[in-house]
Amino acid sequence: MKVRSWAEPFKIKMVESLRMTTPDERELAIAAAGFNTFLLRSADVYIDLLTDSGTSAMSDRQWAGMMMGDEAYAGSANYYNLERVVHRVYGYKHLIPTHQGRGAEHILSRLLIKPGDVVPGNMYFTTTRAHQELAGGRFVDVIVDAAHDPRDESPFKGNIDLVKLQQLIAQVGASKIPYVCVQCCVNMAGGQPISMQNIAATHALCHRHGIKVMLDATRAVENAYFIKVREPGFSHRSIEEILLELCSYSDGCTNSAKKDCLVNMGGFLCLNDDALAEEARNMVVLFEGLHTYGGLAGRDMEAIAIGITESVQFEHLRARVGQVEYLGRLLEAGGVPIVKPIGGHGIFIDAARFLPHLTREQLPAQALAAAIYVESGVRTMERGLVSAGRDPDTGLNHTPKLELVRLTIPRRVYTQAHMDVTAESLIALHDEPERVVGLRFEHEPKCLRFFQATFAPVEGSVVLKHPDFSGKSVQPIAPDQPCTLL
Ligand SMILES: *Cc1c(COP(=O)(O)O)cnc(C)c1O
Repeated sequence: MKVRSWAEPFKIKMVESLRMTTPDERELAIAAAGFNTFLLRSADVYIDLLTDSGTSAMSDRQWAGMMMGDEAYAGSANYYNLERVVHRVYGYKHLIPTHQGRGAEHILSRLLIKPGDVVPGNMYFTTTRAHQELAGGRFVDVIVDAAHDPRDESPFKGNIDLVKLQQLIAQVGASKIPYVCVQCCVNMAGGQPISMQNIAATHALCHRHGIKVMLDATRAVENAYFIKVREPGFSHRSIEEILLELCSYSDGCTNSAKKDCLVNMGGFLCLNDDALAEEARNMVVLFEGLHTYGGLAGRDMEAIAIGITESVQFEHLRARVGQVEYLGRLLEAGGVPIVKPIGGHGIFIDAARFLPHLTREQLPAQALAAAIYVESGVRTMERGLVSAGRDPDTGLNHTPKLELVRLTIPRRVYTQAHMDVTAESLIALHDEPERVVGLRFEHEPKCLRFFQATFAPVEGSVVLKHPDFSGKSVQPIAPDQPCTLL
């Protein structure tokens, strides 16, 4: 194993205690949550790797910035600070703040998509596709084939397949394609980046046909890091320079500030076109709030502005991506099948290979996420058949090639020892996969079903046959335990 020769570029000033639970308590907690890790109470979780969204630790400077919140209804000073930073770092002309990423997706989709339109993208993202469909559009996946193969080690598996895109344009006509949605560090593919060469070529192709390019810039900073370390010709350029060039190949972006920007809440829409920005501002007033706050408090906007300046520091990115890689290497050394190459924000476990005794209908990724929780108290997320949802036209399940469990690493929150504990328990589980029982749907919500669905084991009543599980009734953890500050 390669020895890590760097450490986090920060030290810890404040700590938050974690609560340990027993396997018995966790069996009860996951059953009460319908075997869906989204429905667990965070108080019952030990190491929370559900998501990197809104889970970052803010810096002392960001907290200081929050005290400088200008909570004016209109024209908050913090809005202008954020506008200046976004313009400098991402390069777009107009900034429209929103409460989070999907607020920006909602406005962009309504603004540009007409019923019957087609929106190509490099693999779907749940909320992005849902808003495209809500506006009457149809998402078409034009990512390179390698993205669907967890064993393919190509460095830029987030790339757009230009042949697929060209064929789609020829088939449906450019007038039916309002924009191509280009995601950075493609989430559902395992945090796989797009190369500068590919986005430049995508932009050139689109503009020949009069089609816009809209970036999902949620993880554009981490994507810039991968371009710097993986793409020939970029190693001597700064993250800021790379990010500006990356964004220059698009006409605007949606961004969830809850990821790269190191805050707990926020998002924004950027546009270069004056008329479109004017329309978006009309819409943001309806759905989010006035155009100078878009659903955010002044202090939130200040924290985002400072977070953005911290997010592009190379040492931060090296430690952030390095921690993900550290966990990935431990798991790999222990024989756990993971998506390669290791992406930016998490480790994606190939649940189908991890649990060869389960069929696809037994929802291996959902079952594995529940079993990991019972085994170790670590919370992860399903990213497979359940997340993929149903085709709105046929009502049939989408069946993505990838059936993954995501271990997402919050930024600046956990230590290397937390990664060790996580890896050890996963490796132990991997040594006895037949202990994991498959699941079936019990309740399936219509919209973004993975968030609120409930499940039941296909046999028996537990998802993980645990040697220490007594089966006797343990008092469930009181859900509304008072917060005792003694
Ligand atoms: C999180 C995310 C979104 C949506 O952002 P929210 O802030 O959760 O609404 C959109 N695209 C990608 C790639 C994301 O990871």
